Amino acid sequence: MNTLSEIFRKRGYSRRDFLKFASLTTALLGLPPSMFPEIVHALETKPKPVVIWLEFQDCAGCSESFIRSTTIMPTEVLLDFISLEYHETLMAPAGEYAEESKKEAMERYKGKYILVVEGSVTPNGVYCTVGGKSNYELLKEAAENTAAVVSVGSCASWGGIPKAEPNPTGAVPVYEALKGKQVVNIPGCPPIGDVMVATIVHFLALGKLPPLDNLGRPKTFYGQTIHDRCYRRAFYNAGKFAESFDDEKARNGYCLYKVGCKGPITRNACPTIRWNGGLSFPIQSGHPCFGCSEPDFWDRGFIYRPLSVVETGFGVEKIAAGVAVGAAAGAGIAWINKKLRGGKK
Ligand code: SF4
Ligand code: SF4
Repeated sequence: MNTLSEIFRKRGYSRRDFLKFASLTTALLGLPPSMFPEIVHALETKPKPVVIWLEFQDCAGCSESFIRSTTIMPTEVLLDFISLEYHETLMAPAGEYAEESKKEAMERYKGKYILVVEGSVTPNGVYCTVGGKSNYELLKEAAENTAAVVSVGSCASWGGIPKAEPNPTGAVPVYEALKGKQVVNIPGCPPIGDVMVATIVHFLALGKLPPLDNLGRPKTFYGQTIHDRCYRRAFYNAGKFAESFDDEKARNGYCLYKVGCKGPITRNACPTIRWNGGLSFPIQSGHPCFGCSEPDFWDRGFIYRPLSVVETGFGVEKIAAGVAVGAAAGAGIAWINKKLRGGKK
């Protein structure tokens, strides 16, 4: 049996490393510390999860983000962490051999595998066919006997760029193509790798999906806006805004609201988990958030236009009402972030 603790050991990591991972994951998932022993026990005894990963109208950027998710899990462990039975970009077999191995896996792990979908779906059956079958057929077939369906990325979660006006292929999100079935949405273009990994670990350890919001997103990661947790928030509160990317105010790290930041209406964990092993995120590198994890982000208006211009009736005054709530919530998240960066190898 290949458990996660065994994989850590086989890859040369100590028990201390494994416990550090379990502790960070418990915190990242927003679980109480009292659940730590249960998480450790589960990761020591349950076999690694079986995953069938389908790619439809996508660019494979979500896969790329997943395999670079190294903030909480070392790369060597990550590549062995799931039993990836089918993934067009990462698997060795191709053509009919690949389709055959997927069919076998769906039979062997009936009712037990996690179906991960990357990319939007075209129910009209004309576009994006694989092995002679439309992506819609392939999705229905794979979703029939799965333990859970996880949409990764904004394309799978909301339709994303393929669904942007004028939506030439008639793209729809996975949840719309699978009406009536519960689908976890992990949006972002791409989504944060650690969020994908932690969601799968939650399912593996506790045998159920994490609590979701009304749009099917894990609340722990999408419960607050970028603005709620942004380190530039003090400048926003003080009314100090960069007016252009090369002015003195931008150099002083002022708020990017006026150069188009969509942080106030975007729910994601970028300011806390960050990217590239917890190194940075767009706002930290001086670029406004353009809201890639929100539905229809591409159709909301020009990326660099201020929100108050793009979103009718959504101005600075309205956002200011959320300041107190955001600041309080941000303090708790900052603790997790500190732990994450401290725990990084
Ligand atoms: S969500 Fe973004 S990164 Fe993921 S497949 Fe779509 S376009 Fe690519
Ligand atoms: S508007 Fe953007 S840059 Fe300014 S505080 Fe909010 S999230 Fe940060």
